[in-house]
Amino acid sequence: MMNDVHEKVQASHLKRNAYLYVRQSTLRQVFENTESTKRQYGLRQRAVALGWTEERVIVIDTDLGQSGASTDREGFQRLVSEVGMGHAGIVLGLEVSRLARNSMDWHRLLEICALTATLICDEDGVYDPAHFNDRMLLGLKGTMSEAELHVLRARLQGGILNKARRGELEMPPPVGLVYNSDGALVLDPDRQVQCCLKWLFATFARTGSARATVKAAQDEHLAFPRRCLRGAHKGELLWGGLDHSQVLRVLHNPRYAGAFVYGRYRTRRSVDGLTRVQRTPRDEWLTLIPGAHEGYISWDEYERNELRLRESAQAIGADRRRGPPREGPALLQGLVLCGRCGMRMTVRYHSRLGGLCPEYACQREGIQHGGTVCQVVPGAGIDQAVGELLVEAVNPVALEVTLAVQCELQSRFEEADHLRHAQVERAQYECELARRRYMRVDPDNRLVADSLEAHWNEKLRALSEAHEEYSRCREQDTRVLTNEQRNVILALASDFPRLWRDPGTSDRDRKRMVRLLLEDVTLNRDEQISLQIRFKGGANRTLLLPLPLRSWQLHVTPSAVIDEINRLLDDHTAQEIAVILNTRGMTSGAGASFRSQLVARLVRDYRLKPRYDRLRERGLLTLQEMVDVLQVTPTTVKIWLRRGLLRAHAYSGKNECLYEPPGDNAPRKAPGTKLSLRCLDGKLLSDRAKEVQYET
Ligand SMILES: [Zn+2]
Repeated sequence: MMNDVHEKVQASHLKRNAYLYVRQSTLRQVFENTESTKRQYGLRQRAVALGWTEERVIVIDTDLGQSGASTDREGFQRLVSEVGMGHAGIVLGLEVSRLARNSMDWHRLLEICALTATLICDEDGVYDPAHFNDRMLLGLKGTMSEAELHVLRARLQGGILNKARRGELEMPPPVGLVYNSDGALVLDPDRQVQCCLKWLFATFARTGSARATVKAAQDEHLAFPRRCLRGAHKGELLWGGLDHSQVLRVLHNPRYAGAFVYGRYRTRRSVDGLTRVQRTPRDEWLTLIPGAHEGYISWDEYERNELRLRESAQAIGADRRRGPPREGPALLQGLVLCGRCGMRMTVRYHSRLGGLCPEYACQREGIQHGGTVCQVVPGAGIDQAVGELLVEAVNPVALEVTLAVQCELQSRFEEADHLRHAQVERAQYECELARRRYMRVDPDNRLVADSLEAHWNEKLRALSEAHEEYSRCREQDTRVLTNEQRNVILALASDFPRLWRDPGTSDRDRKRMVRLLLEDVTLNRDEQISLQIRFKGGANRTLLLPLPLRSWQLHVTPSAVIDEINRLLDDHTAQEIAVILNTRGMTSGAGASFRSQLVARLVRDYRLKPRYDRLRERGLLTLQEMVDVLQVTPTTVKIWLRRGLLRAHAYSGKNECLYEPPGDNAPRKAPGTKLSLRCLDGKLLSDRAKEVQYET
């Protein structure tokens, strides 16, 4: 055997390094199975015995604590690449089959070893994979090792499944539940943990929404426990803010309802080597035993919560977040990014004036942590503007211009090509000239020869650059369009606006068209809405849109009407103004006709100067003032007014009025008489009897 070994180890092997690969699958093995690790390191002595010097033995132990089944073992990758580059003379490992635990990796390593004449060594001996016998033996060892792993796993898995079917399998309990000394699952004796979970279930029962629960926790500054699942602090509780996904995890977990379940999740290995955890539907769970242990809620409550969550998921539509275009009218669904934080924005709808009105909202962060929504942008104006932009961008005229430019460039191609080729010829000539000069010089004249050689080299470089430039430009210019392609493009262009405006085109199809043309749209809401639109081809456009009017703004009375009311107030009462406005066909903001109350309210709301004040400013007097001026009783003033002896202007609908100051012609109480009146035509009425006479 020893002879055989020394035949295999050649001087060529000893010139290269020896690689010792050390691995333990799990961290626990690293700590507990130290004997095996010691044996693995002991192989180093074996490499020395075979003739490698200490410093030529390189230990690769970066994969300690990583399972052989995992694909991202850095150390193993390094080993393969060192072998592949021919740096390795020998690879040592405790059982060689441990090098790679999946047989594909193992056979690949053998093949590379054979190609690079690398030996393999384990505790049993030294193998040369280039020899058929050795290679078969090694292959067999790998297959055995894989089979062993399979049997082991099957046995373990079988045991686990049997226990799970009986509901006796111990699994890491969710936070709030712990195993007691008898192995039964009970509520966590920690009062604070218990209270937190009870609060969560009660709050969800009250609000009916996971998001509201997060918000309530946020408002009350509650800290929530979660269990650390891996790392040095495994099993310990961490306290922090409650987030949306945690609430959902707690609500969906049947263990809180006292049920034993197994098989809620399934792990799948994907092509890229990553494992994905998938949730399985309830009818595929392996075991579900309600009432298996204590819980925070009853099974009925759990079912009720599930139903509520499902309903609100349909209403709010988590599925609207991503994926293919859906039926809703929001044109940019799935394409909008938030201009403030960069997250993808979601769509929500509300009904307005009998139709669905989209709104783009950046709310994911707000939902997850119970904070405020980042921004909400009304969508109707945006969709319309984007639609118009697309129709404008894809119209026949614009494309015709582009194609014409392309044609023009093509026609100049020959000319340009000729010029560029002349450039190459010139470089060629100069290069030839430099070569001849160099050839002609006396080789002994080193000074001249050196400088001419440098000159020639320079010309050679220039020539190759000219060649490259020429072929690059030529390739660029020859990308020409055939007539057929041209026609197809133009036909599409004229079809697009027609299709876009066709009322028969569904929202979903329209959204598909948008997705073909646009990469994404970034929205930002400020004093106005700004849209950064990225087209598929890389072109960018920025649009600025005014913020749409709020609903109360839609009902505002036009300012022209207010101005008119202001003007009419000088000469008319509210009643009269209402009539005037109605005859002119003016309406209020809500579209109603005017009445005196409405006019009075507008005067008040818009702080127009009231008619009373205007009249007072013009010097008109109140009844009391008239009484004082005329030295008569109020009743007399009113009678005189009725008789037309005085002038007054009404300022309200209740016949209240202000009086024009009495002029020279105004009736007076003549001195000495009991009562005398001077009517407007100059006659004097001295008492009531005369008054009657005057009347007749
Ligand atoms: Zn945002």
